[in-house]
Amino acid sequence: MDSKINIIQTVTGSYMVNTYLVSCPETREGFIVDPGGDAEKIKKLVTDNNIQVKYILNTHGHADHVLANMELKHSFKTRICMHKDDADFFIQPEIQKISEKELGLAASGSVDIKLGDGDLLKVGCLEIRVLHTPGHSPGSACFLVKGNLFTGDTLFVGDVGRSDLVGGSFDTLLQSIKEQIIVLPRDTIVWPGHNYGETPTSTLAWEMAENPYITDFILAEE
Ligand SMILES: [Zn+2]
Ligand SMILES: [Zn+2]
Repeated sequence: MDSKINIIQTVTGSYMVNTYLVSCPETREGFIVDPGGDAEKIKKLVTDNNIQVKYILNTHGHADHVLANMELKHSFKTRICMHKDDADFFIQPEIQKISEKELGLAASGSVDIKLGDGDLLKVGCLEIRVLHTPGHSPGSACFLVKGNLFTGDTLFVGDVGRSDLVGGSFDTLLQSIKEQIIVLPRDTIVWPGHNYGETPTSTLAWEMAENPYITDFILAEE
């Protein structure tokens, strides 16, 4: 791993989401990706590592990725960021109802910063690029920082996210992976939203060789 970035992966909530605490070693500033619950556990990680949390980033609005948003926002006096298409989608009462039925927990409430594709966020020495990757949900996004890609439920190790939930589309999901992800350098490290694979993390080179959704549905088409 690049010595100019610290990444801690931990599992939170009943849906076993991968939550990430990412920070700049020089300034101790950092951000949290997908706080899926267990706010106390995340707070302890932040305190133990002496990090100033600048943002909470959500890869998408599903309940399992946002559960500890509000508690951590207030603890760290920080702001919640999500792609605008999920922020606007899950706030609709009708969609809230459907999503809660699907996942058993309420989806995202309001967010503070609505992101768009290509947006850049600065955290200490780190620059985070937002990649809009719809398909698992309308506003699913991946976050690229120093060769590390936080993929949420868009791409798992050897698998891809569900497209049968409200607002999902399999074709759109594949298109996102094709246009936004596999065009990145092969040594990009993939940090998924759940540990559904054989390893907790992989590289884009590995995914392009082994992930059947990429090899059979995307690369085979070319
Ligand atoms: Zn999801
Ligand atoms: Zn999930």
